[in-house]
Amino acid sequence: MVRRSTVGASHFLLLVLGCSACGGKTPSSPTSPTQPGAPSAPPNQNVARVTMDRADEVAGPQVKVMYVLPSDGPDRQLDQNRALATSVESWTRWVERASGGQRLRLDTYQGALDIAFYRLPRTDADVSSFGIAAIDEIQASISAAGYNSPSKIYAVYYGGNNMLHCGQSLRSGGQAIAGAFLEARPAAFAPCLQQTVPTNRTPGLTTSPDTPGYWEFVMAHEVFHMLGAVPSCAPHFSSGTHVNDSPTDLMGVFTRPGVAPDDPAVRWNPSVIDFNRDDYYRHGRACPDVAQSAFLTPAMASIAEPSTAVAAISPALTSPASADESVCVMAPSPTLVHAAIRQAPLSSKQGTH
Ligand SMILES: [Zn+2]
Repeated sequence: MVRRSTVGASHFLLLVLGCSACGGKTPSSPTSPTQPGAPSAPPNQNVARVTMDRADEVAGPQVKVMYVLPSDGPDRQLDQNRALATSVESWTRWVERASGGQRLRLDTYQGALDIAFYRLPRTDADVSSFGIAAIDEIQASISAAGYNSPSKIYAVYYGGNNMLHCGQSLRSGGQAIAGAFLEARPAAFAPCLQQTVPTNRTPGLTTSPDTPGYWEFVMAHEVFHMLGAVPSCAPHFSSGTHVNDSPTDLMGVFTRPGVAPDDPAVRWNPSVIDFNRDDYYRHGRACPDVAQSAFLTPAMASIAEPSTAVAAISPALTSPASADESVCVMAPSPTLVHAAIRQAPLSSKQGTH
């Protein structure tokens, strides 16, 4: 069974899963080490590239960050110049603040974020041609390369194009991937690199660990999908497994008839996790709660709030391997994304494009 979710407003994400021993594949087209919005670290601050999933420092569920490129994609060295490390630090810090104290469990090595690099066997054009199923193709590739742990959510920063959207997430075959298509140039919209959020008008990956931008919220959004947001029993559940009660909600992606996409009433402006705390996070109702996810620490019971009992934990929130397949697509226009879904249902993904 496949569920797709759509995100509106003006943000896209793309996640790619990584795994280990992508070895063999060496960057073939190194280019500028910079990307709009990405820090250009001095050479002496670069870190070594890692092409495998090194031994985990902590056991159990964790988010594995990857830098994935198509076979012919420009290598901006985002894994080496600390651009991705800063981006991840920024959105994970935001999650900790907005949640009231819970942190994502991250895959680290010697105390630092363990980012794996992997180059896909397919070209940028090939992957992009998969359209709505591009995330499926990326997941299949990294899974075959060994990045396929059922206890990991692969947070993939993908340096390639996508014709439809800026980001996607997918849970399929016991694996979870959340991705951001950094070079996406949707046919009907401005390039994803030009997208911003009201709280950070600078496009591109953030350069501040305390000021997340568009891509950071996109990645947080997609990872939260993989944590189980938004359950269908949520009172403000909307199509695409989002909520429709506030555009300030991390998962608040929706439109309203007669309201322009850039109207503040609907434009994605993420600043809170679960507006009014009544849908998917620490809501105290008999409905799955993301705060109980094993990917978050400390456990919800050890932090303040909520005052009411919380529903029994759902397997879908503790392990991406136990849930139905699902996909979230973030794009500037929910209407167009829905159209894309109708044209290419996920159930017919592989090999059909
Ligand atoms: Zn979404």
